[in-house]
Amino acid sequence: MKKLVESRSLDLIDMAVDLVYEGEIDLAREYIKLAREYSAKGKIKLPIEYKRKFCRRCNVPLVPGITERRRIRRKVLIRTCLICGWIRRYELRENKTNKSSECRSENREKRNH
Ligand SMILES: [Zn+2]
Repeated sequence: MKKLVESRSLDLIDMAVDLVYEGEIDLAREYIKLAREYSAKGKIKLPIEYKRKFCRRCNVPLVPGITERRRIRRKVLIRTCLICGWIRRYELRENKTNKSSECRSENREKRNH
């Protein structure tokens, strides 16, 4: 049952994104609202990639160039909702707590045949 509700809310979010492309922004927001209602009622956590698909303040699906502006500055992705002005920053670096950020000593490509 939970799975069904989950896929339903994810479908709604996907549909909402399509609606933005079609210019139906108001309708798209209704879809997002519905998707959030579903997930709240079913006590489902939306996957992070879906959570990032819409503005948490005004429920509009975020489509770069239509409802969203994206800027990358110093490895920080800045997303601005063009509908309500909501700004969110995402660090593009991987979430590693060790201090050597750029040093990757992974040589897994070296495979001896
Ligand atoms: Zn917004």
